[in-house]
Amino acid sequence: MTARTHDMAALLALTVWVLAVPPVNITIGTALAAVLANQIGGIAPDADQPTAPFWRNLPVGHYLGKIFGTLVGGHRFLSHSLLGVAAFSGAALLLLRFLHPIMPHIDIMFVWVAFIVGMLSHLVMDTLTKEGVPWLLPLPHKFGFPPLREWRITTGKAIENLVVLPGLIVVTIWLCSTHYETLTNIIRYHLVR
Ligand SMILES: [Zn+2]
Repeated sequence: MTARTHDMAALLALTVWVLAVPPVNITIGTALAAVLANQIGGIAPDADQPTAPFWRNLPVGHYLGKIFGTLVGGHRFLSHSLLGVAAFSGAALLLLRFLHPIMPHIDIMFVWVAFIVGMLSHLVMDTLTKEGVPWLLPLPHKFGFPPLREWRITTGKAIENLVVLPGLIVVTIWLCSTHYETLTNIIRYHLVR
């Protein structure tokens, strides 16, 4: 899937997560940091290719991307597996713990969960594409849904751009508008107290 679709899927996954397991009393800072971490998590697995948005904006990003891609075994390998999610999440937690002293009002555990939700949403979306995802590395099999390869989505083509991406946007807007009170109250409770 393209980066735009992954961004939207990550946001929808976070919305669903927040509605299913409402966080208690989070600050606006935590909410913003969580959305940022969720969006980074949503595209993090594709850092295994030098053309990823992750690298494109850095001066020598293309080369850094190539080195990183080689380190994680190439595209759709380690970073697209549960093992990769565990490794990336471990690194993210270390970074958040390191940064916590300069942002004490931010609930780093919630931000961390938002990152993991973003990463998992990436793997779920890529499972719908023709290439599939090696969820259970070191087991090399690439899983896909539907099981029949021909029925899956081709990245960047019409079905993704005209059905999947608009669909994700519509569902996210629908969820946010139908649960507006719940979502705004999560932060409002904090402001009142
Ligand atoms: Zn991917």
